[in-house]
Amino acid sequence: MATYDRLLTPLTVGATVLPNRMVMGAMHTRLETLDRPHERLAAFYAARAAGEIGLILSGGFAPNPEGVMEAGGPLFNRAEQCAEHRVVTRAVHDAGGKIVLQILHAGRYAKVPECVGPSAAKARINAYAPRALSTQEVRATVADFANTAALAVQAGYDGVEIMGSEGYLINEFTAAATNQRDDEYGGSFAGRIRFALDIVRAVRATIGREPMLIYRVSSIDLVEGGMSGAEIAAFAKEIEAAGADLINTGVGWHESAVPTIAACVPRAAWRDAIRNVKEAVSIPVMASNRINTPEVAQALIDSGVADLVSMARPLLADPDFAKKTRLGIADEINTCIGCNQACLDRIFTERTATCLVNPRAGREIEFAAGKALQRKRIAVVGGGPAGMACAVNAAEHGHAVTLFEAGARLGGQLNLAKAVPGKAEFHEMLRYFEVRLKKLGVTLRLGRPATADEVAGAGFDEIVIATGVTPRMPDIAGIDHPKVVSYIDVLTGNVEAGERVAIIGAGGIGFDVAVYLLGDARESLDRGAFFRAWGVDLAKTSEGGLARLDSHGAPRRRVHMFQRKAEPLGKGLGKSTGWILKASLRKAGVTMTSGATYKAIDDEGLHYRVDGKPHVLAVDHVVLCAGQLSNRTLYDELIARGARPLLTGGADVAAELDALRAIDHATRLAMTM
Ligand code: NAP
Ligand code: SF4
Repeated sequence: MATYDRLLTPLTVGATVLPNRMVMGAMHTRLETLDRPHERLAAFYAARAAGEIGLILSGGFAPNPEGVMEAGGPLFNRAEQCAEHRVVTRAVHDAGGKIVLQILHAGRYAKVPECVGPSAAKARINAYAPRALSTQEVRATVADFANTAALAVQAGYDGVEIMGSEGYLINEFTAAATNQRDDEYGGSFAGRIRFALDIVRAVRATIGREPMLIYRVSSIDLVEGGMSGAEIAAFAKEIEAAGADLINTGVGWHESAVPTIAACVPRAAWRDAIRNVKEAVSIPVMASNRINTPEVAQALIDSGVADLVSMARPLLADPDFAKKTRLGIADEINTCIGCNQACLDRIFTERTATCLVNPRAGREIEFAAGKALQRKRIAVVGGGPAGMACAVNAAEHGHAVTLFEAGARLGGQLNLAKAVPGKAEFHEMLRYFEVRLKKLGVTLRLGRPATADEVAGAGFDEIVIATGVTPRMPDIAGIDHPKVVSYIDVLTGNVEAGERVAIIGAGGIGFDVAVYLLGDARESLDRGAFFRAWGVDLAKTSEGGLARLDSHGAPRRRVHMFQRKAEPLGKGLGKSTGWILKASLRKAGVTMTSGATYKAIDDEGLHYRVDGKPHVLAVDHVVLCAGQLSNRTLYDELIARGARPLLTGGADVAAELDALRAIDHATRLAMTM
């Protein structure tokens, strides 16, 4: 059994002793947009404190109205707001934790017409152009940071974190690309960092020595005209001298064209950029980004990259991450798979954050804890994400569960997903379910399809059908031609696709298949391959940490993607990851055709029409990724016998089925039994 002594060693930060080296990083959950916002936030953070996380960093609060992320976004600038914050700080302290308030001025990323920046240059990711702050206003903003810090301490926070990374206001001052000022806050390196240093000094002077003062520095900007590694190291030194107790590290700006936290980024990819900061200062340094297991976290500390680690999404996925690490049951951690589907993609589309692998995240007051009143015998048929989630949750709820799976191993469609380059984290989801099923004593029956006789005749109190989906066979002439294969054939490796491939259907699976056919499996596992593919240069002199992108050589195959809808392909992909997929496929020369009508598949290839014009594409294979249909054969048999089975996952609703909906539905279903 692995032990994590270094991760579990206390650390002194300023005047505070943290019980371990694991920190929950700041994440804007949007919980404040729901009813009972303070109660929800309090329950959300208290669960993480009870899970023994060493420190919690709150989501960002703006110090003044023009610094909010969006209209109505979190703002903390008035004394009367302290009472609502105390609900949160008290809940965390009562649960034995510590919490720091992050102060975030969104600068030119603020989605409000009155947004401001060091200069008037618009960010490509914001519809609003900023107004350049006057020198007087810069000084007033410094005072606003100090005011919010004072309020935070009054409200019971254990300190503050000043958000200086990810391309927000302070970062916009430090980078030459976004700071064209000619007053004392622009021009030279000393001028550009003055705003940050003034804030740190003003905050320290206001809050005194006792509360923690954390500064989040951008360890690598990943934008043209960003700071060089040498400048970042020199800046970190100045931040220490100005009075910070701890430096947290950020990676990239929101407008960077390099993925920084998606699953396709290798774990701990940014370690050398973080080490650059660590080597410059003597106060503790915190690592962040793509750290999702205790092994990765401890390795960063062991190798001297950082003194502690910040994990935001992994704490959505499992509030008990730190406790399980201490107890030596890290194999029971519900690991964040870096999908962004239920957290960032929801936040970016103005919905509240939750987690694909943990639907309870952010909904702590909806999911009551505790056991069922009556222990039932439950059969769950189907060992994909929905079936496994239902079985685990029903067993945790106190029921005796038998899980039937027709295949030789659990996982269902997860076994396809984990084969796709950039999706190796799906192995962790499978490991979590397998370990939990075993520990909870769920009886597994694998290797042959369950029959109506055995589930209906065995005295189960409840039967849950999670038999998943079958691929849809589109009605196209020649659909049974030997060159037509299903995505299952390809992703299981049963068919080695030829050099020229057409993909019919451009949903999540169509894109997965394209990545599988063209992607580089090393890229998400090997930092060198990832940096080469995305043009990252960690040399201390490189501006913004960017390299010139080399040409990528000839792609392994010629892939053509098709859909019938007239809209651009990939519109339904996640906001935070769709651009990465599309950029990768563009680089690999994939052609994308929308508005297609499929006419036939024959020896010549795929015959189709666009705008009434006929085309023939010569291909070796046509891969069908045309969606799925619910597999309800067993369900229908049981109904015919008068049983009353319950449905979940793809067997319930196949349209746009994904693991997020499947796990959410199955978890809620389990709680009703
Ligand atoms: P999907 O997203 O529903 O896409 C099905 C595709 O097939 C569409 O592009 C559709 O486009 C096409 N199609 C539907 N009926 C057709 C027909 N009769 N003939 C020809 N084409 C047809 O389903 P999926 O790709 O199978 O994915 C299933 C779910 O898993 C989705 O919700 C997906 O988001 C999720 N998933 C997500 C990811 C991810 O990375 N986030 C990865 C894999 C899967 P047209 O109707 O325009 O032709
Ligand atoms: Fe991690 Fe995905 Fe959950 Fe977000 S939704 S916390 S990325 S597992």
